[in-house]
This record gives sequence, C-alpha cells and structure tokens, in this order.
Amino acid sequence: MDYFSNDRVNEGDRRDTAFQLVNALREVVSISRKLNQPISYEQTLDLVEDLNPDIYKSMTVLLDRKNESDWVKYYKELAEAQSTPENEINPVDLIEKDLKELNSIALNKGNKRFLKKRIRDYKSAIEFFQPRKISEHKILARDTYIAERKDLNLNGKIYEREEFIDYKLDSNNVLRLRLLHPDNAENIIGADLIYEHLDTKNGRIRFLHMQYKTWDNKSLNFKAGSLNAQIEKMDRNLCKAGYCNNDKGKKTISGFRLPYCCAFLRPTSKLQSSNSKMVSTGLHVPICEVKKIMETEKSLNKKNVSGKNVSYKIFDELFNARMIGSRWLTYEEHTNFYKERNLLDIDNIIRLHAQEIII
Ligand SMILES: [Zn+2]
Repeated sequence: MDYFSNDRVNEGDRRDTAFQLVNALREVVSISRKLNQPISYEQTLDLVEDLNPDIYKSMTVLLDRKNESDWVKYYKELAEAQSTPENEINPVDLIEKDLKELNSIALNKGNKRFLKKRIRDYKSAIEFFQPRKISEHKILARDTYIAERKDLNLNGKIYEREEFIDYKLDSNNVLRLRLLHPDNAENIIGADLIYEHLDTKNGRIRFLHMQYKTWDNKSLNFKAGSLNAQIEKMDRNLCKAGYCNNDKGKKTISGFRLPYCCAFLRPTSKLQSSNSKMVSTGLHVPICEVKKIMETEKSLNKKNVSGKNVSYKIFDELFNARMIGSRWLTYEEHTNFYKERNLLDIDNIIRLHAQEIII
C-alpha cells in the first residue's frame, strides 16, 4: 500500500501532498520541454500513470473525491447500505433507475425547472463513476535506447533501489525521471523536486532543489509542522555548504547573473477542484532569502517575499539559461554531495528526481 491510499493518514494532508507532486511534475515538464505554456492538470495525471500506475490509481481516487457532489455521496451510501455480502449493489445502477423514472415523468411536461436540474445532477453523478480516460497522446514519449548507451558515461545509480523512465525531448536531450516514495509511510511531510542538468560531454552536473509546501495563498507559518526543520536542512546542506557559491567560492559575482542559490521554497495552493484550472502561485523563493525573512518575521507571505522571489513564468527560462541553480559539479562531487549529506534518505518525502541528460 502506498502513502496516498493509506487511510491512517489524514485525507486532507494526503491530498495536499498529491497536489504538490502534480505541481512538481508539471514544473519538470515545463523546464525540460522549454514550454511557454504549462501543461494541463489532466496531462500531468497521464504522466503519473506512465511513471507509476499504482500511485496513479490511489492519487486520482484521492484527488477526484474532492469533486464528489452530494448526489454522488448519497448514492454511494445508498448502495453501501443496500449491499449484502452476497449481492453488491452498484451506485450507478441505482442512479440509472431513478433517472429513468424521473425522465418518464418530466418528459413533455413544459418548464419543470427543478426536475430538469435533478436530471442533470443524476447524469453528472453517473459521469463521476466512469473511469478516468488516459489520453493516447502522452505529453512525453518514452526513450528506451539511452539506458543502453554506455559511451555516454552517465554517473550511474543515485538511489539504492531505483527505477527510472527515460523520455525523449524535442531537443534530442533525454529526461530521466524517478518517482521515489516510501511504502506504507505515515510520516510524509510533503513532496520535493530535484532537477539536474547532466552534461555528458564534459562529465558535469548542476542542480536545483525545491521544497513544495501547501499554503492558503496568504501565509506560511515558520513554526507550523516541519517547515522550519525543512528550511534548516536545505540551508545547511545547500546554501551553507557552499552550493550557492560560484566556482571561486563566492555567492555573488559581477556581471549579469543572479546569485547562485540552488534551493527554493515553493508555496503551493490547495487543490480547488479537479475541474477547475490548475492554479499555482508560482512563487520560487530562494532558501537564502527565506532565512533572512525568518530572522524578523513569523511567517512568509506575499508581501514579505515581494522582490525576493522568481515567478513561475521566468523561473524555467532562468534555470535553462544557467542563471539560476548551482554551479557545475563533477560527477564525483555530485555523488559525494548526496551520500555525505544523507539526502538520499527518502523515508518522509515523496520525491521527483529529474535529470535532463544533455547529449
Ligand atoms: Zn542558497
């Protein structure tokens, strides 16, 4: 059993994490494909299905439940109440029966506004129970070839037990995606994303790390939950450890480039409903800046991050232009970085680890 279907964990928390993962995945596609338009919620879910069908199943149940109308709930309960161990009643059969009856009454009876509304409600309730269709046109096409190319000299396995899928990108580069999740976990504190550029020709890697956090669009209390500890961890392992420095060990350089911060906090809104357009605040706040805000303020809000964050629209472009993210590291530095800092421990996090392999 995976985290998303673990009913010992609060349903709202699981849904928040699921939506964080959807946001992270959407961000990965947007960075790697250099799209100006973010992909849709539905396309993102199709990609989850491709990466991990089991996770997809439990995630969509969780996300869809947000959309249950009162009629869906009513017929679910009714079917459950009428079911016996020998005979399981299907809610759709019950709705169809009532719909048929109502249709025959309401037919040709002039303007029966409320009867007609009920008919529409029944129809959309039936719709709700239909399995979600996965599009034949996936947003990313798999590449089965790259894993066999020894000449590329990739830096090998990152995680002890890892599975990945390679996708072809239009640029001829390859996107290697790993979706990491602990089984049976109850202490998940959210989703994070690691995105790396892997330059096979020169044997070097650069990265950025993002921690997603659900907020109400107004503020994130530093004291709430695990936020403080997560920020400290990123600061200790990335900023303070010198990964926000350039080759010469400096944080800022002259000329046209942003400071080398490679750790970001990503405040993410709650899922409204899966029918609504996916809205994300798109704030990317460098951890170095979050730390400064923490010194004087109790929470992070839109006001105190103003001028200190990079919006959704320009973040991808800046990272692809090498103006955001870490400096280049050798394969060896990269491997040691994760091992020495215990960052491969994913017991309490759902992680998307993406590598764009530049060929
Ligand atoms: Zn930093």
